[in-house]
Amino acid sequence: MTLLDGKTTSNQIKDEITEAIAKRKAEGKKIPHLAAVLVGSDGASMTYVNSKVKSCERVGFRSTLVKLDASITEETLLNEIKKLNTDDDIDGFIVQLPLPKHIDDQKVIMAVHPDKDVDGFHPMNVGKMALNLPTFLSATPYGILELLERYKVETSGKHVVVIGRSHIVGEPMSILLAQKRRYGNATVTLTHSRTKNLKEITLQADMIVAALGIPEFLTGDMVKEGVVIIDVGITRVDDPSKPRGYRLAGDVHFESVSKKASYITPVPGGVGPMTIAMLLKNTLLACENKD
Ligand code: NAD
Repeated sequence: MTLLDGKTTSNQIKDEITEAIAKRKAEGKKIPHLAAVLVGSDGASMTYVNSKVKSCERVGFRSTLVKLDASITEETLLNEIKKLNTDDDIDGFIVQLPLPKHIDDQKVIMAVHPDKDVDGFHPMNVGKMALNLPTFLSATPYGILELLERYKVETSGKHVVVIGRSHIVGEPMSILLAQKRRYGNATVTLTHSRTKNLKEITLQADMIVAALGIPEFLTGDMVKEGVVIIDVGITRVDDPSKPRGYRLAGDVHFESVSKKASYITPVPGGVGPMTIAMLLKNTLLACENKD
């Protein structure tokens, strides 16, 4: 069994980006500037945004954190987005999801200028992704493709089962892996909460991407020998033995599944760090697009 080490791989990618930035600096070109909008003070969202900002520092990007109160109106948030859209110094920005209930996520996603949409969530970029045209790929599926490529895990002709159909992970992942592309060309089954007999389907999978958000859902009896496992799930599970009072759990029961897997991503240290590295890659691309 080989561990698909997202931590080490993401550090390699960050080193490559750092080099690209040093080169841009030497050539007198613009340094990428990423902005992150955080609404409210949800613990997990704050952790994600902070690590995104920290990663910008690590590779030499400029970053701006826009912190807004949870009680902010939708209109005020849309105005903040307008400002970021028109600020020439900002190459790309993200609005950390989820947003408070009184704000319409979709309206916010639609408001981000597609050229600055480094999360790849705008319908224009989702459409380009679906047509296999160059665009910002949504960072989590992009990170998974990159991890597969760097470990040379063959996907062509394989049966991939994706569990979960969210717009940010499962759905784009199923589209990308089915596409005619290197580290695509798979036969993909997209499963979700209404899927019947999931175990019958997962037992046929050469590769499983688990993105449903239920800790340790996929167990050893649900997979075949030699399966490739990509665990996207990150859930905080209460654990009084930890100083923080919780541990991070994936959607895969690592102990039983890893015994049968040929490759598997750990949680933490698998897909999570790759997601951040790809956000940086998208930001660099947004900046290069303006050269
Ligand atoms: P989501 O929470 O929006 O949706 C969950 C999906 O799982 C739905 O499509 C639902 O139909 C499906 N589902 C629920 N129960 C199911 C069941 N019993 N059988 C089959 N399918 C079922 O999904 P999301 O936003 O993609 O998040 C999924 C998990 O991935 C969460 O733990 C989230 O924290 C994590 N996540 C991690 C990263 C990362 O960078 N590693 C990025 C995004 C999300």
